[in-house]
Amino acid sequence: MSQIPDAWELLRQRCQVCTACELCKTRNQLVFGVGRQDSPILFVGEGPGQQEDLQGEPFVGAAGKLLDEMLSIIDLGRDNCYIANVVKCRPPGNRDPKVEEQAACVGYLMEQIRLIRPKLIICLGRIAAGVLIQENYRITRQHGQWIQKNGIWYTAIYHPSALLRDLNRRPETFLDLLSIRDKINEVCPEFYQ
Ligand code: URA
Repeated sequence: MSQIPDAWELLRQRCQVCTACELCKTRNQLVFGVGRQDSPILFVGEGPGQQEDLQGEPFVGAAGKLLDEMLSIIDLGRDNCYIANVVKCRPPGNRDPKVEEQAACVGYLMEQIRLIRPKLIICLGRIAAGVLIQENYRITRQHGQWIQKNGIWYTAIYHPSALLRDLNRRPETFLDLLSIRDKINEVCPEFYQ
């Protein structure tokens, strides 16, 4: 007996056949997202890199290993959060996704947000923050600050790739992670219990 696909499966299928930007021509795999689909906590990166493109999962390369370590500091992981990206296909050569590519893909992220209904969204780096928090977001000045929009709390932290390149940013990021843990305790007191 064939099963009726649910909203998540339908969305994944739409992404799978999407040709709204050039990135579909060069990608190996769609990188849709991973994690708990009803988690109150959503992390959003910018777009898949080489390893993600090969494996079809976000943050599985060097930056992903660091992200896993960062999350584990505050008892988070792929089993209790959701992790997605602004664009779902790899920008060739690891360049930033172009504005038109972001615009072509962001609707899928918005649908994921509607399905997950997170209470906290943590942007990983400037590009995700520019899309979800504020245009021209200044990550060096604004990281770790919280704003609330439409009942969701948003913040941004340095992208793990930036933290691989620049160790000096790690102490501030540690404080940002503690602030995320505090916000989780404030907004979803049941989360860590
Ligand atoms: N960088 C991102 O922004 N997203 C990934 O999935 C991997 C690296």
